Amino acid sequence: MSYDVVVIGTGPGGYVAAIKAAQLGLKVAVVEKRKTFGGTCLNIGCIPSKALLHASEIFAEAGHSFDTLGVEVGTPKLNLEKMQAHKDATVKANVNGVEFLFKKNKIDTFIGTGKVLGEGKLSVTTDDGTVHEVEAKNIIIATGSDVAGIPGVDVQFDEKVIVSSTGALEFGKVPGSLVVVGGGVIGLELGSVWSRLGAKVTVVEFLDKILGPMDGEVSRQFQRMLEKQGIEFKLGAKVTGVEKTGKGAKVTLEPVKGGDAETIEADAVLVATGRRPYTDGLGLEAAGVVLDERGRVVINDHWQTSVPGIYAIGDVVAGPMLAHKAEDEGVAVAEIIAGQAGHVNYDVIPSVVYTQPEVASVGKTEEELKAAGIDYKVGKFPFTANGRARAMLHTDGFVKILADKATDRVLGAHILGYNAGEMIHELAVLMEFGGSSEDLARTCHAHPTMSEAVREAALGTFFKPIHI
Ligand code: FAD
Repeated sequence: MSYDVVVIGTGPGGYVAAIKAAQLGLKVAVVEKRKTFGGTCLNIGCIPSKALLHASEIFAEAGHSFDTLGVEVGTPKLNLEKMQAHKDATVKANVNGVEFLFKKNKIDTFIGTGKVLGEGKLSVTTDDGTVHEVEAKNIIIATGSDVAGIPGVDVQFDEKVIVSSTGALEFGKVPGSLVVVGGGVIGLELGSVWSRLGAKVTVVEFLDKILGPMDGEVSRQFQRMLEKQGIEFKLGAKVTGVEKTGKGAKVTLEPVKGGDAETIEADAVLVATGRRPYTDGLGLEAAGVVLDERGRVVINDHWQTSVPGIYAIGDVVAGPMLAHKAEDEGVAVAEIIAGQAGHVNYDVIPSVVYTQPEVASVGKTEEELKAAGIDYKVGKFPFTANGRARAMLHTDGFVKILADKATDRVLGAHILGYNAGEMIHELAVLMEFGGSSEDLARTCHAHPTMSEAVREAALGTFFKPIHI
C-alpha cells in the first residue's frame, strides 16, 4: 500500500490534517490505535469535559439563580447516570462524525499501532499482532500527549480513587471530597464539575497563582469567584505524596517556601499536573527523528522533523497543548505537503477555561508586556455595567484589553465572564488583522449583548467607555 500522506494519530491535529490533505487532492490514510477516532480531545478531553461542565452548570444554576428568575423547579435532584449518559452520547456523536468525514473524503483508515520505520515507510500492528507495512511519501506524526504524573512522586493511578482527567470524567458517584493536584485548566474545569455536583474540592497548586501563565489580575479575581463557589485553594504548595488509604486517599504537601508538611484526606484525588508528549513505541529515535529534552518532536517552521518527509504537529510538538492549535497545524502542514503556503500565527491562539464564569484570553498578558519592556495602555469594562449581563444574572467578571501605547494596536485581551470563550474571537480576528482598539471601539455592536462590554473596554483603551 502506498500513499501521498499517512497520518499517525486521529486527534484534532491528525484528523484535520488528513481531511485537508484529501481535500487538496492527495491520497491519504490514517493510523489510530484507539478503537474510535478523534484522539484525546473527542474521547477523553475537550468534548466529554464540556458535556459534564454544561450539565453541572445547569444543575448549579437551577439551585441558585432559577428562583430569582421566577423559575420554580424545587430543589434540583442529580441523576449522575443520566448526566454521564449525555456525556457518552456526545462523545459517540463526535467520534462517529470523524469516521463519517474520513469516508466522505475517501481516507483509508488503519486501526492499530503505527511505527515509523524510516523515510517513506511505516508499519501498523493490529490488535491480533499482524504487522502491515505501508509506504508514504509523507508521514505526519500526530500522536498527541498522555497524562504526566507529579515529578519525583510515585502516583499509582487506579482511575477510581487516584484518578487522572480520564477517571475524573467517569466517576459513577460524586466523591464527598476531592483533592485536585494542579490549578491549571484541566484541574479547575473538572474540579468545578464535581464541586457543583456536591464534592468538597481542594485545589493544591505549586505556583502562588492559579492558571499559570494567565494574566495575574484575571487569575486573582477568578480564584475569588471559585472560592465563593466553595472551592478551597492551597497555593505555593508542593505535593510530596499521593497514597490510597482504607477510605480513600491522602495527599501530603509542604509549602514551596519551606515549613511544616500537611496531609489532606479525601475520597478521591485528581492529579492534573499536565501532559507529556506521547511518542511511546513510535520508533522515532531509531528512524533518526530528533526529540528535545522534554520528549517533544523537534520541527522547523514547516513542521518538518529531522528526517525528510516526516512531519509532526499538535501536542507532540512544542507550543500550547490545545486542540485548535493542533487543528491549525494540521491544516498548515497539509497545505505545505500539497505545495501551498501553510502558516500558523502563534501570537493569536485563544485559550479558554470553560468554568463559570469562563476565562478567555488571546495575545499578551500585562506581565509579558512588562517583561518585554513594551509600553501599553489598558482598557477595562465590568459586566456589572452591562445590561444583558444583568438581565441574565451573569454580572461576574470584566473585559480587559491591552494595546500598544504608541500605535494603539491591540496586543492582548482577557475576558473573565459568562460566555467569555465565545466573545474572545472578535479580539482574535482583530489581532489577526493587526487592528487597533479604536478599530474595535468604532465597530457597531448589537444591543443588548455581552459583547458590548468588549467594545466598551476597547473604548476605554483608546479613549473612555460610555457606560461607566
Ligand atoms: P490527541 O488528541 O492526543 O490524539 C492523538 C491520537 O494519536 C490518539 O488518538 C492516540 O490514540 C493516537 N496514537 C498515539 N500513538 C499512536 C500510534 N503509535 N499509532 C496509532 N495511533 C497513535 N484542548 C482544547 O483546546 N480545549 C479544551 O477544552 C480541552 N479540554 C481538555 C480536557 C481534558 C480533560 C484533556 C485531557 C485535554 C483537553 N484539551 C483541550 C487538550 C486537547 O485534548 C489536546 O490539545 C488535543 O487533543 C491535541 O490533539 P492532537 O491531535 O495533538 O493529539
